[in-house]
Amino acid sequence: MGTFKAWVVEKTEGGQTLAFRDFDDADLMDGDVTVRVTHSTVNYKDGLAMTGRSPVVRRFPMIPGIDFSGVVETSDHPDYRPGDAVVHTGWGVGETHLGAYAERARVKGDWLVPLPAGLSPEQAMAVGTAGYTAMLSLMALDAHGVTPAHGPALVTGASGGVGSVAVALLARAGWHVIASTGRAGEADYLKGLGAAEILDRAELAKPGRPLGKERWAAAVDAVGSVTLANVLAMTKADGAVAACGLAQGMDLPTSVAPFILRGVSLLGINSVTTPQSKRREAWARLARELDLEKLAAMTSRIRLEEVGRLGEAILDGKVRGRTVVEVA
Ligand code: NDP
Repeated sequence: MGTFKAWVVEKTEGGQTLAFRDFDDADLMDGDVTVRVTHSTVNYKDGLAMTGRSPVVRRFPMIPGIDFSGVVETSDHPDYRPGDAVVHTGWGVGETHLGAYAERARVKGDWLVPLPAGLSPEQAMAVGTAGYTAMLSLMALDAHGVTPAHGPALVTGASGGVGSVAVALLARAGWHVIASTGRAGEADYLKGLGAAEILDRAELAKPGRPLGKERWAAAVDAVGSVTLANVLAMTKADGAVAACGLAQGMDLPTSVAPFILRGVSLLGINSVTTPQSKRREAWARLARELDLEKLAAMTSRIRLEEVGRLGEAILDGKVRGRTVVEVA
């Protein structure tokens, strides 16, 4: 038994602390697969965990970090052997189960997926939970039957992680993508990812009418709250909105008008407990359909020891696209 380096959240009287320190192997939680983490990433929820701005950490001490890629060190799970490359997202890792901002993680093998063919461990974390959620959103819109022939697709929070991947995926699938952002300076970045139009997010941020002009047939919403209400109010008849985020807020001050007068559908996206078969389908589609040059264009890199400073930044909407955390 030894130690490894990890970011650790501890509970204190005044709130919580975050420190980069040695962590004992003996204090890892139960699991049948131990992984040498090579890459992780920074998602909105990681910002909440590291800062304590919202109580997503429900066990202390906690190693934050909700997703990782890495190499199996030891396994009692029938599907995994030492040396296998694996990817993990969700399942409460970094919230209730010790997480990814560490050199080592122990999890249930049932939570893992094999590294998808066609993606490197680093690319898998450039996708990360955010990009995987963007794919789940696209799959939900596909299953609903809405297509580019029905009209444009809107992406809110477009310069963020979910948003950037959603823009690239929807554009590649043939949609006329409208990217809503509060960062006018990122217009060229978003056009580079495939956005056809930029919409100032201020247009969606203030309370509007129950029904507005029909502007898009589909939407991926990473923002929630008043923005999602306005997105619904401006969705074309029989269109669909995949709701996956809450960057503006968890509330949804809407009416039934878009649903009963236009047949609009609101599709909920939960990436945390997605069953294995759907997880593998999402990763396989990401490996096939996400343009790797666009993925590289939206990705920055930091070292594990630097990740602590990004918690506040991502919550304040100051992180563009995706950030890979290089662990080993
Ligand atoms: P990011 O911070 O990278 O992206 C969020 C984006 O939302 C920002 O970049 C910004 O985009 C926009 N935004 C931020 N604050 C506000 C605000 N007050 N009002 C309107 N827009 C705002 O986060 P992620 O991409 O990692 O996650 C996005 C959301 O999706 C989060 O709420 C996260 O919790 C959720 N999520 C949900 C999952 C699920 O399973 N359902 C899984 C993964 C993420 P811009 O500057 O372009 O306007």
